[in-house]
Amino acid sequence: MEEPRHPVSGIDYPGTFQEFEEFFSSERACLDYIAKIRWHKAFICPSCGFNTQKPSLMGRGLFLCRECKRQTSVTAGTLFHRTHKPLRTWFLAMWFVTSQKHGASALGLQRVLGLGSYNTAWTWLHKLRRAMVRPGRDQLTGAVEVDETYVGGLGSKIRGRGARHKTITAIATEVRGRGPGRIRMAIIPDVSGPSLRAFIFNNIQERSEIRTDAWTGYRGIDTMGYKHVVKNLSESGDPAHVVMPRVHRVVALFDRWWLGIHQGAIRPAHLDYYLDEFTFRFNRRSSKARGLLFYRLMQQAVDCVPVPRRAIVGGKQGA
Ligand SMILES: [Zn+2]
Repeated sequence: MEEPRHPVSGIDYPGTFQEFEEFFSSERACLDYIAKIRWHKAFICPSCGFNTQKPSLMGRGLFLCRECKRQTSVTAGTLFHRTHKPLRTWFLAMWFVTSQKHGASALGLQRVLGLGSYNTAWTWLHKLRRAMVRPGRDQLTGAVEVDETYVGGLGSKIRGRGARHKTITAIATEVRGRGPGRIRMAIIPDVSGPSLRAFIFNNIQERSEIRTDAWTGYRGIDTMGYKHVVKNLSESGDPAHVVMPRVHRVVALFDRWWLGIHQGAIRPAHLDYYLDEFTFRFNRRSSKARGLLFYRLMQQAVDCVPVPRRAIVGGKQGA
């Protein structure tokens, strides 16, 4: 047997559509794969925290806890919880979404899966986008550019009047050489100090160097354990994209992306999902193998609900 593609988890994943079909030829194969991703170290009972490396599989995707006798469904607490559609259809949707360079539209997904309704395809896409954001994911580190913009407004600033009715997005971009590293994007209610500081606190590791312009909303972040470097636009006389080149580039790419696939038809209420999808793709843009994106999304779909984790922490889990 060949080496598994993922060296850390030891879990293999399909690299081509032909391999995908071989991997997931049946519902049982899909269930086994979810179980492998979820419990690749050990089966942990969400009810009592008992863990074992030799779980008893009862069929129909149910595992029996030898300690408390509770049965746990492989899909409980995952994205696939209580789905009425075959898992294989879900896997196919995930393959389709991750193998399209620029992402998938609901119409495209509906066609590929032969789903009866556009609404189902749309709902699926939104569920998958939600899975793209990993709870407790790593924070940005090192030097980080932070700025805010009216997304969809081609990077226009919205600090003055008229800002009230726009959807404002905060963006943080790691500095990696001359280009951007990883990014975070989030909708913020306004450009006030509390909103900007909350965004920074949630997304950037302490002791990082934060580069911003001289906007008053950024004052005080040096008291939060960060190094604050203010790039003063008026002093340098440079346009914003020269002073904050990486953030500016990310915003331009985002605007082009959603204008391209979605024709700009995003309601503000759904913008956060698109920010998540864009961030997921952007942060993995160097993953050459599409299969790795599929694997990442699968991992996140399997542990996207935090509830069982709380039970595990409270239980008698091993080291
Ligand atoms: Zn148990």
